[in-house]
Amino acid sequence: MSELNWAGNYEYRAARIAAPATVDELRELVASSRSVRALGSRHSFNDLADSADLLVSTAALPAAIRIDADASTVTVGGGVRYGDLARELQAQGWALHNLASLPHISVAGAIATATHGSGDRNGNLATAVSALRILTGSGELVDIARGDDGFDGAVVSLGALGVVTEVTLDIRPTFDARQRLFGGVPWEAVTGRFDEVTSAAYSVSLFTTWAEDTVSLAWLKELDGAAATVADDFFGAPALTEARHMIPTMDVRNTTEQLGVVGPWSERLAHFRFEFTPSNGAEIQSEYLVPRARAVEAIEAVRALGPRIAPLLQISEIRTVARDDLWLSSAYGTDAVGLHFTWLRDQEGVEAVLPLLEDALLPLGARPHWGKLSIDRDGVVPSLYPRLDDFRALTERFDPERRFRNAFLARLLG
Ligand SMILES: Cc1cc2nc3c(=O)[nH]c(=O)nc-3n(C[C@H](O)[C@H](O)[C@H](O)COP(=O)(O)OP(=O)(O)OC[C@H]3O[C@@H](n4cnc5c(N)ncnc54)[C@H](O)[C@@H]3O)c2cc1C
Repeated sequence: MSELNWAGNYEYRAARIAAPATVDELRELVASSRSVRALGSRHSFNDLADSADLLVSTAALPAAIRIDADASTVTVGGGVRYGDLARELQAQGWALHNLASLPHISVAGAIATATHGSGDRNGNLATAVSALRILTGSGELVDIARGDDGFDGAVVSLGALGVVTEVTLDIRPTFDARQRLFGGVPWEAVTGRFDEVTSAAYSVSLFTTWAEDTVSLAWLKELDGAAATVADDFFGAPALTEARHMIPTMDVRNTTEQLGVVGPWSERLAHFRFEFTPSNGAEIQSEYLVPRARAVEAIEAVRALGPRIAPLLQISEIRTVARDDLWLSSAYGTDAVGLHFTWLRDQEGVEAVLPLLEDALLPLGARPHWGKLSIDRDGVVPSLYPRLDDFRALTERFDPERRFRNAFLARLLG
């Protein structure tokens, strides 16, 4: 089998891949293998999704989008992509609280790795989950809901508990938003007035290559109807009058509409349009989620490495995530700031600079994004998750035969 992830930087080592169309087919497949993993839309950059034997793609499983207006929830098949879900919700007058930069990822794959967007008050996408249905290695369908024993460990699961066949998410009435971009934010504002900068809109993203005199772009997503706290000047950076892609070589048509044009949340909260290639495509990504209290220190540390990392970098993004209680979430117990790196697709070069970054960031408590490339040369990541032992016990409860334990999980859990 020769199957690649979305970015093409990882070739799955699994012996076979199947795409069941029903839960019964999925159950038979899971029963047929001692080593199995769910595969979402393949947007992770490492071996997290891989299996020694069988990969079950969730792409052909039933979408089954069901809205419960009384409960303000939606239940969807785990393989449904956020872009499809967002459009269906919008058509029926509903919304999610946030989206990642791209709508192309599957719901179950995104929550499994604590995928997030931005916004001081926005938890990551997993925080919207109120219930899960999981097909375990024994072929049983287990329902687990918010408040149940182990639920806080089961949402950001790294695929370790079984195949999530259904996810129930909190929804809210639809809303409109607009995006404005500002060019050239002084570093002194970012490091000196960090809280003011990141709280200036519903979602704020800062883009830089770390080697420039200013932060090249501030990308603000503002709720329509909310009083705009920012005029045409953002800490000295002017509002742009032409739309921009955050990677200067890429086509701006791939990004969602900017220049303050109001539109539904489903067409504004992601950076990239569902119909087009997100980001670049030829790339590798890494991201480190730093406890917010150490964010400025972390930013200064990465700036000091700017000349070393800039030659390998397409763009970096700084985002904020609200704290949560999900055991393996990168925002567990702390508001967090994501320092994200979209690298050139140069695996060797990136693997050579990551230890420098990690030497600077991991001692500050930075948690690597589960779905992106990291090295953790000294094996400190397990110590960054106070509930890891509880998670290990949860995997024994759901998966006593360790069918879903792959090499990535063996490194983390033993
Ligand atoms: C261009 C691009 C932009 C990105 N932007 C962001 C961003 O803005 N914010 C962010 O946080 N991340 C971002 N990411 C990372 C991405 O969101 C995560 O890697 C996410 O996990 C990908 O989801 P997927 O469906 O592709 O999962 P996969 O890569 O297919 O799998 C990831 C994990 O989820 C598990 N999994 C998948 N489906 C199931 C299921 N049904 N049941 C149980 N486990 C399952 C897999 O076993 C694996 O462990 C981006 C990635 C790309 C390529």
